[in-house]
Amino acid sequence: MKGYLWEEGAENITGLKPLPPLELKCPFCGGELFPRRMKIKEIPGTSRCPSLGGYAQDMAFKCENCDSYWPFGPPVSAEHRERMQKIWGGLTYVPAEVWLERELLKYKLEVFGYC
Ligand SMILES: [Zn+2]
Repeated sequence: MKGYLWEEGAENITGLKPLPPLELKCPFCGGELFPRRMKIKEIPGTSRCPSLGGYAQDMAFKCENCDSYWPFGPPVSAEHRERMQKIWGGLTYVPAEVWLERELLKYKLEVFGYC
C-alpha cells in the first residue's frame, strides 16, 4: 500500500539490512536507530473468530546513544514468511554485520560478551 511505512515486498523489510524507508530518530536523544533483530511470528486467531490471525514481522530498532528500544510489527502474508525464511535461513534474523560497522555498537556488544 502506497505510503505505508512497512510495505510488504519492499526492500526495507526483505533485505538482510532491513531499514525503514525514512530515517528513524530517537525521540529521547535524537540518535540514529539501528536494526537490532527481526522475527516473523504467528498471530493466532481468537476463540470467537479462529479464522482471524496470520503473521507479523517483528522488527526492533535500538538507539546507539541512549539504548532505548523500539519494536514494530507489521502484518505480513504467508508467502512473505516463506520468502524471509529462505533469505534469513530461519524465522529470526539478527543483523550483527550492521552493528560491527559502528564502533560504539561494537563496543557494547563486546561488553555483552558477543565477539
Ligand atoms: Zn536515544
